Amino acid sequence: MNYFVEVIVPLALDPTFTYAVSEAEYEFIQVGMRVAVPFGRSKVYTAVVIERHNRIPQYYEAKEINEIIDLTPVVTEKQIALWKWIADYYMCTIGDVYKSAMPSQLLLESETLIQYNPTSKITPDELDDAEYLIYEALQVQSILKVEEIIAVLNRKKVFPVINSLLEKKVIFLQEEMVEKYKPKQIRYVKLAEQYLAENGLADLMEIVSRSEKQREMILKYFQLQAVHKKPITVKQLVEESESTSAVVKTLIDKEIFEDYYLNQDRVIFGDASQDIIELSDEQSKALWEIGQSLETKDVTLLHGVTASGKTEIYIKLIEKYIAEGGQVLFLLPEIGLSTQLVMRLTSYFGNEVAVYNSKYSHNERLEVWDQVLNQSEKAKVIIGTRLSVFLPFQNLQLVVVDEEHEGNYKQHDPAPRYHGRDSAIILAKQHGAKVVLGSATPSLETYYNATQGKYGLVELTKRYTNVVLPEVVLVDVKDKYKRKQMTGHFSDYLIDEINMALSLEEQVILFQNRRGFSPVVECMTCGAVPECPHCDVSLTYHKYKNELRCHYCGFTLPMPKQCFRCHSVDLNTKGFGTEQVEEELKELYPNKRIARMDQDTTRGKFGFEKLVEAFQARQIDILVGTQMLAKGFDFDNVNLVGIMNADNSLYHPDFRAHERAYQMMTQVAGRAGRKEKKGKVVIQTFNPYHNIIQQVTTYDYMGMYKEQMYERYNFKYPPFYRLVKLTLRHKEFEKLKEASFWLYNNLKEQLGIPVLGPEEPAINRIRNQYIRVILIKIPQNVPLVKTKENVRRILKSFETIGAYRSVKVVANVDFY
Ligand code: ADP
Ligand code: ZN
Ligand code: ZN
Repeated sequence: MNYFVEVIVPLALDPTFTYAVSEAEYEFIQVGMRVAVPFGRSKVYTAVVIERHNRIPQYYEAKEINEIIDLTPVVTEKQIALWKWIADYYMCTIGDVYKSAMPSQLLLESETLIQYNPTSKITPDELDDAEYLIYEALQVQSILKVEEIIAVLNRKKVFPVINSLLEKKVIFLQEEMVEKYKPKQIRYVKLAEQYLAENGLADLMEIVSRSEKQREMILKYFQLQAVHKKPITVKQLVEESESTSAVVKTLIDKEIFEDYYLNQDRVIFGDASQDIIELSDEQSKALWEIGQSLETKDVTLLHGVTASGKTEIYIKLIEKYIAEGGQVLFLLPEIGLSTQLVMRLTSYFGNEVAVYNSKYSHNERLEVWDQVLNQSEKAKVIIGTRLSVFLPFQNLQLVVVDEEHEGNYKQHDPAPRYHGRDSAIILAKQHGAKVVLGSATPSLETYYNATQGKYGLVELTKRYTNVVLPEVVLVDVKDKYKRKQMTGHFSDYLIDEINMALSLEEQVILFQNRRGFSPVVECMTCGAVPECPHCDVSLTYHKYKNELRCHYCGFTLPMPKQCFRCHSVDLNTKGFGTEQVEEELKELYPNKRIARMDQDTTRGKFGFEKLVEAFQARQIDILVGTQMLAKGFDFDNVNLVGIMNADNSLYHPDFRAHERAYQMMTQVAGRAGRKEKKGKVVIQTFNPYHNIIQQVTTYDYMGMYKEQMYERYNFKYPPFYRLVKLTLRHKEFEKLKEASFWLYNNLKEQLGIPVLGPEEPAINRIRNQYIRVILIKIPQNVPLVKTKENVRRILKSFETIGAYRSVKVVANVDFY
């Protein structure tokens, strides 16, 4: 008898591979365990077993595995099934999926870099011989590749040793992330153990009987504890007892209090806050309707206007599902931009929440993986980005997808180019879990599914406190320019409104969907515009650094003093970005505190969090920003939002441009007047009669939906057609052209459905690679799976043509 295992290796390869094992290994191995396998000439990879079998491979001789890594499976069969679905649906390899799904520590390979942990407290005598050899090698050379460790130990089986050193924290994997996301630390106080007993307070009063200040602070502490039942910060205690931190210090010195630090947004919030949430009538009704809907539908859309209190409804739902012992996944488009929401959930659910996202360190990710796998109490609710669909859920009962319309849910690069929302729906189906999709501006795809009865639909049309939605006022800037009522890019109307808001000590948000100072520099004499030498785009002017920058490849150039072509010094900037708005504001309001939020100001450490905190603490009067501002902020002192220029979001060569423009403006507008009074939104535009602008003004989601659906139908776009985009790249223009025509012709002939292209995209060269795009449109009545199989087959024959081998082709299914 021959014994084999079928494994997935973490490489962009299509098939699975067969390895030979001994009878004893065969008996021991279970699906989902990892094995170390030799691959190619000299490489070693961590593979995962997906099947045990006795079939001798036909075309190659099976190599033997090096070793079994796990005692029990670390990957579930459901996960493997999801990987297969993603690989098939999104047309990538299962190796691609496996590689991005797993935390890196679980994927050791010969190339992995291992680093000594200088803070390790382990002494050499706590290590066994093999561990010691590695430890010693790392004293000489601070970073080692796994393959070097294989040489040091002079044996093939090294993964368990490395794993045990990782567990003992003697070593760690080198992080590819340069900047780690580190949440802010907050200082808390708690009572020393011995005073927790019943007569603790009485004892204490005795001890501090001579100091009134200390007595008051202790009493305040007990009072806060009784009311809030959650950890007490030093700041809060000092403020509420109207005392000083010196008193806290004295009490700590006396060992009455102890202080400790917690990350602001991470887990361990002690016990859940138990703040009681009373839903409004509208909210209760929506919650009830969701419950009803989920009785018959697996997926339900919660379409609730901005500030209708969707989060509170999610919280109630989550509570119900975890009470029944289930695991809950709460998906967000992006963690970094959702600090407020993450805080609300973590402070409500306390210890039962774990956060998972790609910016966390290897160790943090592994920790959450283990917690989910073992159904730990600490990970009943997982808040995370799309990556979290890959966690090893055991008993998933509910998935919430917040802001389901967000394009960020789709991964662009690298493969797997999967959609987080859609993959989560498949994941939920595997577990028999329910899905709630939430948005104030649902994607057309989702709303269509809801109207078709595929998803349930619950609508919430009022804001939580019954404040009406902000009034939207359009300002025709063409007219304003004519009448000379513009100061820079500000209309007199917008300036008046800002003045008014500032005089009431309210804060203002201004939205300009473009970063930098102004997009292009133009020669006023010959019209030349400086372009990136590597990409087919014009360079963007960044005033702060006085340079031109390519937003595609990062190429920079000092701002030229003369035109490159005609040497004229008459250069002008066209259009405008956030930086210019900020600058104009500083001139208009020299005494106000003005800040800018865009990719450039939030790139550094905590840049984003700091801005949000400062704005919340009212240390900023006017905040200018890009679409980052549209992402779910809940500030209660903002009643005026200005959209500096609505037009540039309308004109994009993209079938989703209008839908996106509507969503973005509605979301930005939603930041105004959330709590007490009716807000106002001022939209400056050259096109006040554009349908989208009109629909934003009247909150006419249905109008937008119907009109856009009509267009989508006519022009054969989703949700009526599924799109597969093939992007071809090569550095030689002619070769690329020839290759893309070959592929286009074959697809067109063999598929019998609409195939467009091979088009030169608006930006036809990036990083010296020319680009061509082919678009395949799959009608609803044509089988999806079969079509994709055919596309794969044609791509395979394309690859066998020698002349085209160097042309790279990337498939993107349901692209955004
Ligand atoms: P949405 O996500 O729908 O835009 P939020 O969930 O952010 O709205 O709610 C808007 C604001 O109203 C938040 O500050 C939230 O705390 C508050 N809020 C909503 N519902 C309740 C409730 N039932 N009790 C107390 N506050 C609520
Ligand atoms: Zn010129
Ligand atoms: Zn470039």
